[in-house]
Order: sequence, then C-alpha cells, then structure tokens
Amino acid sequence: MEKPGPLYAGVVVDVRVEAVNRVFQYRVPETFRERVQIGHRVLVPFGRRKVEGYVLELSGELEIEEARLKSLLALLDPEPIILPSLVELAKWMETSYVGLVSEALQYMLPPSFRWGKERVRTKTGQMVTLLEKNPTLPKNASAQRRVVEILQKTQEMLAAELVTQARASHATLRALEDKGILAVGQTTLERPISWDPIPDPKLNLTDEQVEAIRRIQAELEGAKRPVLLHGVTGSGKTEVYLNMIADVIKAGRQAIVLVPEIALTPQTLNRFAARFGQRVSLLHSGLSLGERFDQWWKTYRGEVDVVIGARSAVFAPTPNLGLIVLDEEHEGTYKQEEGSIRYQTRDVAIKRAALVDGQVILGSATPAVESYHRALQGHYCLAELTARVEDRPLPTVKVVDMREQFEQGNRSMFSTELRQALEELAGTDNQAIILLNRRGYSRFVLCRQCGQVLECPNCQVSLTYHRDDDRLHCHYCLHRESLPGKCPHCASRFLRQFGVGTEQVQQVLAKEFPNLQAVRLDADTTRRKGSHRAIMNQFASGQAQILIGTQMVAKGLDFPHVTLVGVLSADLSLNFPDIRSSERTFQLLTQVAGRSGRGEKEGRVIIQSYDPTHFAITAAQNHDYLGFFRQEISFRRSLGYPPFRHLTRILASGPQQEAKEAVEGIYHFLLQQGLPAEDLLGPAPAPIGRIQGRYRWQILIKSTGSMADICRALPPVQPVVQVTVDIDPLFLL
Ligand code: ADP
Ligand code: ZN
Ligand code: ZN
Repeated sequence: MEKPGPLYAGVVVDVRVEAVNRVFQYRVPETFRERVQIGHRVLVPFGRRKVEGYVLELSGELEIEEARLKSLLALLDPEPIILPSLVELAKWMETSYVGLVSEALQYMLPPSFRWGKERVRTKTGQMVTLLEKNPTLPKNASAQRRVVEILQKTQEMLAAELVTQARASHATLRALEDKGILAVGQTTLERPISWDPIPDPKLNLTDEQVEAIRRIQAELEGAKRPVLLHGVTGSGKTEVYLNMIADVIKAGRQAIVLVPEIALTPQTLNRFAARFGQRVSLLHSGLSLGERFDQWWKTYRGEVDVVIGARSAVFAPTPNLGLIVLDEEHEGTYKQEEGSIRYQTRDVAIKRAALVDGQVILGSATPAVESYHRALQGHYCLAELTARVEDRPLPTVKVVDMREQFEQGNRSMFSTELRQALEELAGTDNQAIILLNRRGYSRFVLCRQCGQVLECPNCQVSLTYHRDDDRLHCHYCLHRESLPGKCPHCASRFLRQFGVGTEQVQQVLAKEFPNLQAVRLDADTTRRKGSHRAIMNQFASGQAQILIGTQMVAKGLDFPHVTLVGVLSADLSLNFPDIRSSERTFQLLTQVAGRSGRGEKEGRVIIQSYDPTHFAITAAQNHDYLGFFRQEISFRRSLGYPPFRHLTRILASGPQQEAKEAVEGIYHFLLQQGLPAEDLLGPAPAPIGRIQGRYRWQILIKSTGSMADICRALPPVQPVVQVTVDIDPLFLL
C-alpha cells in the first residue's frame, strides 16, 4: 500500500541566480512522505549537482513531464527549519514587492544559513563531573587533590575553568578520568545576552492606560484589526505593551517587540527583562553571528516568550506568535532600503500576524500620516493616551525667529533665549538635549570668488568638513580628502566654511559654557561597538549635563532630569525635496520636545527657525497632532500622494547615458501598458543625481492599485545599469 502524504514537493533551490528563482517540482520518495512539511530543508539533484533547497509547496498533482521528474534526496532536518507561516509570508512578500522569493526566505533562515554567511555552530565545551565523592588519592598528587576539592563543592565545572582554578592541566583531568573519579563530556554553551538588572516599577495604571488595554483586549476578541496606540510622549505606552504581552504569555504564545534602532534595544531589553525575566531575547544585526545563532535557535525551540529587536526581528521564528508591537511606528528605519525586497515592516508585521491569527500594536506619539488615516477609516482600531502619566504637563515650547535674532545683531548659533536657558543650567542637576540634525563641523565649503561649493567627486553632494580628522567627508560614499588650499575651480584662496554641524556645536559649547560638561551622540561618535551605550551612561549618570546630537537624541530616551531641549535649526529637515518633509519635521520636533520634563520637574523646549510660522513647526509647538494631520492630509489629497494613491519608484543607476536610456525605455513600456502619462513623474534625474560615481535616473508612478506586477515585467536593460523598484518608497532622494 502507498504511504499517505503528498506526492510532489515544490522546492526553491539555494542557488543565487535569478534564472533558478522559481519553484521546481520533485517527487517525494515514499520514505519521507509522512514526514515532509512545508519549510523543510532538503537536498535535491539540480543539473549535475546536489544542492540544498526549501520546500515551499506540497501537492498531489504533477505539473511537469513525468520523465523529467527527479526525487528529493534527503530531508536535512527533523523539523521544518522555516515555519510554514513564514513560508507563506515570504510568498506574500514576493508578490507584494518586486524581488525573489529566495531573497525573502533569507530573512527567515537561521543566521548561519543565509547567503554569504559562514556557518556557525553551537558552541560546545568540556564539562567535568565528579563521579566518586571521596576518592583516595596518592599523597604527591596535589593538583589532582585541588581538582577534586573544587568539584566536591560544585559537583561539575567547565574543564577550562577548572584547570585554571585548580592550577592543574588537562593531563590531570585525564588521569582522574582514567581512574573513574570524574567524567569529561561535551556540553552546549550559550553565548548569553546580558542586560542591566533594573527593578520593575510596580505602577498603578492610569485610567487612560486601563481604557487603552481594555480596547485592545476587546479588539483581540473581535475583529482583530491592528491597533494604533496614539499616545503623547511620556504617556506610558510601554506599560500598555507590557500588559498586553503578559496576556499573550499567559495564553502560551510569544510576542515580538520592534524598536526603530538597534541602539534602543538595550534599554528596552532592560525594561522587559525586569518584567518577564530570563525568557526575553534579542535579535538584531548588531549582535555577533554566534550570539544571533543562539538567540535564533532558542526562539525557534520556543524557549523565549518575548523577542526584542529592530526591523528584521519581525521574522523571528516564534513558533506560536500572538503579538507584534512596533514602537515608534512612524520611524523611517522600519523601511528596508536595501536589496530587491524593500519591505515596510509595518505591513509585513500586519500580514504575519494575520497569518497566525495574532495581533499587532503600532505605537507612536506622532503616527505616520498613512497610519492615522487608516485608523480614521476604520482599518485600524484607534486607542489614545492624551496625557502624560502623573499629570505631568507637556513641556512649553517657544519658537524663536532667527531672522529677528540676526536683525538684532546676534550672529551666534544660539538665540538669546537658548543662551539664557543654558546659563540657568549651571549649578543645578538639570540636563539639556540639543538637537542639530547635521553631523560634522561645518556643512559645506564655498569659494567666495566663483561661488562653487566643494563637491564629492563621486556623488552630487557637497562635502562636509570634519574637524576630528581635519578632512572633508562625503556622507554618501566613503570619499575623504583634505581641505584644499585653493579653489579647485578658479584657484582662488577664498574658500570659506558655512553652516554648523554637531562637532562645531560641541566645540562652541565647551568654549562658551566651560562649566557645562557636554557629550555628543551622532554617527561619528557611535561608530565603535559599545560607544553608544557609554555616551548614554555618561548622560544618564549626570556626568554630562548636555547631550548634543543628531536625530539619534530624539528617539525613545527617558531621562527624568532633562528640563531643556534646544533645536538649533528646525529648517534643515523642512527644506528637503521630499513629499514627507513636513511630516518628518513635525515628528522630529515633537519627539525631541517629548524628551523634556519627563520627570518631576517641568520641561521646556526652544526651537530656532527661519520659518517659524510653518504649520509643521507651529503644530509641534502646540502639541497638536490632529491639527498637523488635517493640514497634511489635505495637501496629500490635493496632490494625489499617499495614502490616497500609491507611489512606486523606479530608479536606474549607471553611466549617465545608459541610465538615462534605461528609464526612457521603461517609460515607454509603462505607457504601452496603458498607464496615463500624467501619472508618471519623469523620467528625470533623481534629486541626488549621482552617488558613488553612478548616475541616477528615475520615474515615479502614481497609481490606485499595486504596480508590483507591471514592475516585475519591466523590459531588460543593459548590464551596466542597475534598476531598483521601490513599492511605496519612503525616501525619494
Ligand atoms: P512613552 O513611551 O509613552 O513616551 P513611557 O512608556 O516611556 O512613555 O513612560 C514614561 C515614564 O512614565 C516611564 O518612566 C514609566 O515608568 C512611567 N510610567 C508609565 N506608566 C506609569 C503609571 N501608570 N504611573 C506612573 N508612572 C508611569
Ligand atoms: Zn572658486
Ligand atoms: Zn561621495
């Protein structure tokens, strides 16, 4: 009699070539028929080779000629290595974005199985166990004696440690093993994740927190829509997450908590470990491969209740997922900007939860315009926290018009108000955060004779002067050069630096406020592993009174002594050529303002701007999310931008002529497909027309439905040109 089970398996082979990115059918031999499952790693014949692959489909129907059918050679693991629901998710990603299913699968594999990664193994060590409690040893065997004495206290110990402690050698251990006094065996060692033990504050929930939790629970029992938790800064959103996660754990399921930056994972881990203890894990690309390997398998085996991580942890292999939390859901870092599958984590999370009948909570003080719109439309359930905990007021925000400061003769980077506020810090234990969203010393170098700005030779970007190494840097490629003595265009000697970066702020502060200790947090000071944490600790401990930084200082920090936030130039993000520049400015200002006055003392905020009546600035000043949203959404509606229509960006990069011809060819193809010319913006050079020596041309498509299918069928281009398709792009530079 035939064994029951599927006759055929659809397998994607682990070969990184586009031509093989499809599902090949294989026969399932009788021996595996009862065991094979979707997600299994298998060995298959492929051409003349044997390669690894993953089972994506199982069926009883033959889809190819019987004569060409080959059989699976082996099941490589007892259980499927990719959860079946994650296989489904990978297939969904393939159709929703434009990329290879094999690339989507990379996110779901154990770290060491991914392309280009060396294979790591479980770390093992030799464990020594005492077998005979009171052995008799020869008088002169003092090393053996010390070994036994230690083991009498501990029963077992790792060989390496034992040898050191007992001042013995491995030969000593072997001698004792030969006498049957102890046993040496292999044991698995975990590369552990450490956190700082902090006490779990036992809080009485506020009425608003109770109400939000009730709403989310009701949604769980009802329609299970994603929940948008809109809570002002300091309203206690984390406490709501913790409560919902406790429910999930009680039901025997797991939760994934996503934060927008790896740098924020330690503080989140501390807080969650304080509540849930050992069964909390971390998964992100900042861990070593070995650490990730261990955390991944622990999660896969169901030994973890809560996984904390950045973007890619949305794919954590939790066997019985109940909840995904996206904290600060509006953050741009949730968008994958590399590879061919440029996914939006929010959408992936919602899809993944739907596949396993789980729930999603999106939390933010400044929800993405798209998210809030969906909530108002009823696609998401809306829960709100409108006040800070313990009746703490939101900080007062003052906007300073820098044009007036200029008129009054103030040429410094600090307005009179901000200078005064900084002076008042001295002698108190109050702290300040100063935001300037530009790193380096000065922003650009200009020739006063010919007016040319010094540009990167590879990119259409001005060079930034860094005093740390006294060189000009390109922030888009790795190019660095020393400051030329004369203008490369006209040879004049009148080169001058303009604009201020965080490095200069730190220098000026040190000179003008010598008794205020300041630390700086930006991409330059956090390059080394652990440096982010070290800077944070200096500020948290009060060693430094001022924290200067780029947008890094705006996110998620909870320091109770911060009573002052200064924004040096609100206009930087406002003047970006991007449809989301108002939104990003509003979010950045609101988020950084939210760092002030979180403790018992009231906080204030000083925003400097040359455009102080811009609605993004005044709305942030008034803590008026809804006011901002109404104005922004009507702008989006009138221009047919998201969330009313989809945007798709097709970008071709390469040599000038070839890149241009490629987008022109694509443009004609799109017209042939029946897309109306008025919905196609371009072909045109991208706002940054050249990066790393490659010219960049683009077309933006506005559409009602998804453009994924059309974009998958784009005509071929010359091999020197690279085409990327970004469905719902977030950044348009
Ligand atoms: P958000 O993420 O909304 O900005 P947090 O969750 O970080 O706010 O909470 C802000 C602070 O308020 C934290 O220090 C937290 O411990 C505290 N907190 C939260 N809920 C309560 C509560 N019910 N009572 C007192 N303090 C609370
Ligand atoms: Zn010049
Ligand atoms: Zn460059």
